Amino acid sequence: MTGGHRIGVVAVQGNVSEHVAGIERAAAATDRDVEVVEIRESGVVPDCDALALPGGESTTISRLLHAEGIAEEIVASVAAGTPVLATCAGLIVASRDARDDRVDTLGVVDAAVDRNAFGRQVDSFEADLDVEGLDDPFHAVFIRAPVVDEVGPGVDVIATVEGRPVAIRDGPVVATSFHPELTADDRLHRLALFDPLRTGAEA
Ligand code: GLN
Repeated sequence: MTGGHRIGVVAVQGNVSEHVAGIERAAAATDRDVEVVEIRESGVVPDCDALALPGGESTTISRLLHAEGIAEEIVASVAAGTPVLATCAGLIVASRDARDDRVDTLGVVDAAVDRNAFGRQVDSFEADLDVEGLDDPFHAVFIRAPVVDEVGPGVDVIATVEGRPVAIRDGPVVATSFHPELTADDRLHRLALFDPLRTGAEA
């Protein structure tokens, strides 16, 4: 077991308990000493070794993050290399441009997204995805999912649906259009949040 790590789940709105459960499952499966904290106010993010930014409603999440002074703390943490897993609305909030004035994005992922792009045709769907870094397909649940329609040069596309990016990595941030927190499969939590911490602990 490595030394203890604190992982924060941004908890202003959205699928908070599902991310907490996913991180705790991943911690138990890998025998890691992890404390999970829910973040609703400023002052907590700087003490976290990794962060999850859940799905939910991106307009609400971004508004509350700025109102509470959490937004700039996340930006500073990512600049310092803190691993982040951002899912669905979390991806929208993390992006550079949500193509929607109601979302005040953080710009920690160099991508432009189209909110609810899949949702115009179909509200939700599931797909088995090949994800770079995972040995077997990941069963992905999409709910009113955003589409990544432009990525910057430093962004790796790690999974696609019909040729469109649905999982991307930009430095320490892994962002998905789908909801890994809604399935029992914790491999994306491990990939995004645990693997970088292990590297740090061994460095
Ligand atoms: N489409 C929603 C939004 O714009 C995100 C949906 C989700 O997180 N399931 O915030």
